[in-house]
Amino acid sequence: MWRRALRTSALLLMSVAAIAAAAGALPAPFDLERAKLEPPSPIDVLSYRISLELQMQARALNASAQIALRIVEGDVEAVRLDLMGMTVDSVMLGGAAARFERLEGGLEIALAGRADAGDTVVAEVFYHGSPRDGLHFQTDGYGRPTVFADNWPNRARHWFPAVDHPRDKATVEFRVTAPEEWKVVGVGRLKSETGLADGRRLTVWATERPTPVYTMVVGAGVLAVRELGALGCTADADRCIRLAQWVFPEDEERALRLFRRAPEMLAFYDSLIAPFPYEKLALVQSSTRFGGMENSSAIFFAEGVVRRSGSDVIVAHEIAHQWFGDAVTEADWAHLWLSEGFATYFAIVFYEFTDGAAVADGLRARAEQSYLVSRDTDRPIIDTLPDDLFELLNSNHYQKGAWVLHMLRRLVGDEPFFAGIRRYYETHAHGTALSADLRRAMEEVSGRDLAWFFEQWLERPGYPWLEVHPNWDGDAGELALRIVQTQPWPPFRFPLEVEAEGEGYRLQKTVWVEGAEEEVTWALPGEPSRVAVDPANHLLGTARVAR
Ligand SMILES: [Zn+2]
Repeated sequence: MWRRALRTSALLLMSVAAIAAAAGALPAPFDLERAKLEPPSPIDVLSYRISLELQMQARALNASAQIALRIVEGDVEAVRLDLMGMTVDSVMLGGAAARFERLEGGLEIALAGRADAGDTVVAEVFYHGSPRDGLHFQTDGYGRPTVFADNWPNRARHWFPAVDHPRDKATVEFRVTAPEEWKVVGVGRLKSETGLADGRRLTVWATERPTPVYTMVVGAGVLAVRELGALGCTADADRCIRLAQWVFPEDEERALRLFRRAPEMLAFYDSLIAPFPYEKLALVQSSTRFGGMENSSAIFFAEGVVRRSGSDVIVAHEIAHQWFGDAVTEADWAHLWLSEGFATYFAIVFYEFTDGAAVADGLRARAEQSYLVSRDTDRPIIDTLPDDLFELLNSNHYQKGAWVLHMLRRLVGDEPFFAGIRRYYETHAHGTALSADLRRAMEEVSGRDLAWFFEQWLERPGYPWLEVHPNWDGDAGELALRIVQTQPWPPFRFPLEVEAEGEGYRLQKTVWVEGAEEEVTWALPGEPSRVAVDPANHLLGTARVAR
């Protein structure tokens, strides 16, 4: 998703010395066990069928959820789902009323008998109430009522019972009863729209693709729908992806400007990574609290983002998420960079391939700056989990994550990098992944051991601070370069590009830096008048050349 505001602006004027002081206290060593949110769930949800009757006056729901689930760990007498608020009226199991109990934040359903590993259970929960979060009854900027879901990270549990964790993906069908003059949008394919006798309409959306609960959404209101493009919709095509905008009628023209390049973005990722993973793509103006939220096949953009019709980097970011985050989902929150770092980087890659390297360089430099001045540098990307999952929306997962991918690409080369990305995607599409899965895919295609790279950039905090001392030896015709890593964190290992310019020449060389202090010599045609370090900015870090 797109964070609404960066928390970093207050730090923009912080000096390097102040950053050093702030970074002085190192965190406790990374502990994978503590980073895990909760133990593996004893059940695996296969499908949800959620029926919602929207009651606009009361801002409430009359609802039912049919949930098919598989028992993962044998011999259980009850299953537990996440559910906050809402009043449960009854629960049915295989056509018979079942006993249930409300627990704090949950719903426990007693099974008719004991169930074993591999057994499938279908429960239907009938409930009603006003969701406190997750599904928002709000008024749009033009004074009309709307209803939009906004689940990230674990707020779906406020409006339907679920295993509300990204590792448990499932198919979903939404059956929404809403006023007839409304449009209802949801994940997957539009299955039916049926007028009801009472002036309302039943709209059914469903997807056969396993979907993370945090992207299972519906939205409803007075919306103008306009097709923006299509992918593969020829007569003999076995798939046809339609791209459309769903926005408030007054904002149609502004939305057309913001989404102008969306067809190009969709086609770009479709050819670079893999075929688009869902049945259609809707770009929806909504009441999401984020700037944009990558709900599977129905991206929700904040109302104001569409109305302002500004930069379309946010559009590229959310479309890239359809592959990374949605189709391949982080199995645990601590690995959120697999979603946000990927979306941030693949947005940059879109501009690199279509608008040129200079545009991408600018975006990458901006991402670097956001990270360097943030408060996040003394924590690793894969960190212990904060109590408040919203704190994960930090520059480690976004900007540093994007830079990790860029440095990985520079390390292994373009072709192996994109081949590794495709292998990682194909292996885990419609499933989940951890950072080690990406490492394995990259190691397989590149034939390199990358454990050190992933460890230093993901599990350790910080970035290199380089001081380079050049010394010209005229007799030998050699430039000696002393490279010192001055950061408060342990030394990093990386290839460093250096450039020397003198009378009649400009040369580049790549130096491997491993230790806290390195010295290399470089035979040059004459005394250099200028020495530059990382001239094209491919290393996340700071560098200063001493005079
Ligand atoms: Zn994002």
